[in-house]
Amino acid sequence: MVNVYITEELYKGLISYSLQRLPEEACGFILGGQAHGKDEELQVSTFIPLRNIASNPRNRFEISPAELLPYLMDSKNPVIGLFHSHPTAPPVPSEQDLQTLWHSIPTYWILSFQQLQHPELQLYQIKKAPQTSYHKLAFVIGQ
Ligand SMILES: [Zn+2]
Repeated sequence: MVNVYITEELYKGLISYSLQRLPEEACGFILGGQAHGKDEELQVSTFIPLRNIASNPRNRFEISPAELLPYLMDSKNPVIGLFHSHPTAPPVPSEQDLQTLWHSIPTYWILSFQQLQHPELQLYQIKKAPQTSYHKLAFVIGQ
């Protein structure tokens, strides 16, 4: 079971960036590394916003390979999460989310604005083997 540590600053940054992108889905990478020297504990360090180039960005997200590749190649600052927002849907993986090709990234983040005054973040691990499944991850906001 993975536990993810998120600073309050990063959490607030995710919300403000995603609010700016409404009514479209925001997306980006989460960089970080091991926390406490354990594989199952992840400390988040940075959020990298990436452009949503989907033709219908209000309910899909797609990232340009040219934009994302440099981050995937950087082993010093590993990508530990894929983030996107749901402007109106709940913070649950959609049918398209489950067809993701991103399941090798350890965490899959969804920030929902279904209730605009109460954005809701959920983290998941998505497994593809042989049936796609997902389960919620624990996370801690703060130090
Ligand atoms: Zn989604």
